[in-house]
Amino acid sequence: MASNTGEIVQESLDALMDDHSFLPELDGMERQRAFSSLHSILSTPDHVKKTYLRVARENGEVERIPAFRVQHNTILGPYKGGIRFHETVSEKETGNFAALMTLKNALHEVPFGGGKGGVIINPRHYTNKELNLVCKKYVQNFNETLGPDKDIPAPDMGTGEREMDWMMGEYKNIHPGYPYRGSFTGKSVINGGSLGRKEATGKGVYFTFRYMFHDFVKNREKWLRELDNRFAQNAIKHIDKKLSVAVQGFGNVGSVAAREAQQCQYLNNKVIAVSDHNVMLYNADGLDITNLIDFSKDHKGDLPTNEEELNEAGVKASTHHRDDLLTLDTDVMILAALEGQIHEKNMKDVKAKVIVEAANAPVTSEADSFLSDNGVIIIPDILANAGGVIVSYLEWLQGRETQFLTEPEVYDRMFDKMKATFDTIYPQFYGDPFPLRQNCYIQAVMKISIITYRQGKLY
Ligand code: GLU
Repeated sequence: MASNTGEIVQESLDALMDDHSFLPELDGMERQRAFSSLHSILSTPDHVKKTYLRVARENGEVERIPAFRVQHNTILGPYKGGIRFHETVSEKETGNFAALMTLKNALHEVPFGGGKGGVIINPRHYTNKELNLVCKKYVQNFNETLGPDKDIPAPDMGTGEREMDWMMGEYKNIHPGYPYRGSFTGKSVINGGSLGRKEATGKGVYFTFRYMFHDFVKNREKWLRELDNRFAQNAIKHIDKKLSVAVQGFGNVGSVAAREAQQCQYLNNKVIAVSDHNVMLYNADGLDITNLIDFSKDHKGDLPTNEEELNEAGVKASTHHRDDLLTLDTDVMILAALEGQIHEKNMKDVKAKVIVEAANAPVTSEADSFLSDNGVIIIPDILANAGGVIVSYLEWLQGRETQFLTEPEVYDRMFDKMKATFDTIYPQFYGDPFPLRQNCYIQAVMKISIITYRQGKLY
């Protein structure tokens, strides 16, 4: 499996090159030339922007904080993607994430291109006043390139509706009188955000898993006949058995996915473990996720780490090293933290039968090949975690029309879109090993390539 954009695009284009129903009008040398042009267009970002945010700390020191915005591709629409505040942010990773956004949007037919931003900062070490300044400076420094029809940021790790409100406020200051509502998504509802946006990614993650599982049940005979897959076989035979679920990351995405899993009547799950940057909590009979969410809200997003805090939360659990979650004996593992969590060194110890990528790129390419070869089903990021950007699109539309959807309407539209994507990927999903990720990439690359060609932008 490919790891960087260049390789992902190359592999997908190689598969498409041999399929003459794809761009049949291109033949011979012309086909060669077109594919090589597509490769260069899709594997190289349009712009890589770097700046330093000069931020005066409350202690009087002035810091220069590195910040990025990578604009990958606009074939399907304006650049779109989150802004991450984290110490691990780098130019290279931001570039990879920007490319993933292009593929994610194309896969789900969201009419946006791909972009991503990042600031190398640990927001926990900054006061609210300082963070407000970081947000304002980010907009000031990238002001020229942002805008509702140019490049539309959204929350990512370390940012949320508060940061989007701050940023849009600054955008509005710089562009008085200009229609500003669509310049940022993931804003607070009172500020023109969409109902449901906050929980959209987490809900979408669990929805994708549930939808796939539903298919195991619906097409039971086909799965049993055609697949030699431990999980599918077991899941079908023991549909009444509780499925165990472990969730890495208890932020906006992980906590919602865990709550959805716990509350899902249809699948009868139990969430046996959750983890954050401090700890893993484990209970073989299932954790009380609602109580954990309440506790974390009151404790800066952190999970309880000791007996006293567990009592305060009203949760029965044992505490362990946070990384123990990755090798836990569980049916399902939802990865909702950072990239590169399952890698060459720990992949052989993974016992989960299904991995859901709620984060972007949490499984490295080596681990992906190894696990897929061993019958583990991996639901890839661009398929599973698109709920956020899908609702961002609805938010952007609502801002234009100043017509607002109810929360159930938002989720209906989001699920319909995710369902439609899954159904396109699905016919090719039977097979061994599960080429789910490759199919997603191929679909995405195919869609962008056709439009690139039709827009006459090949050369
Ligand atoms: N940061 C989210 C993602 O990686 C959401 C992006 C958006 O809404 O534009 O998909």
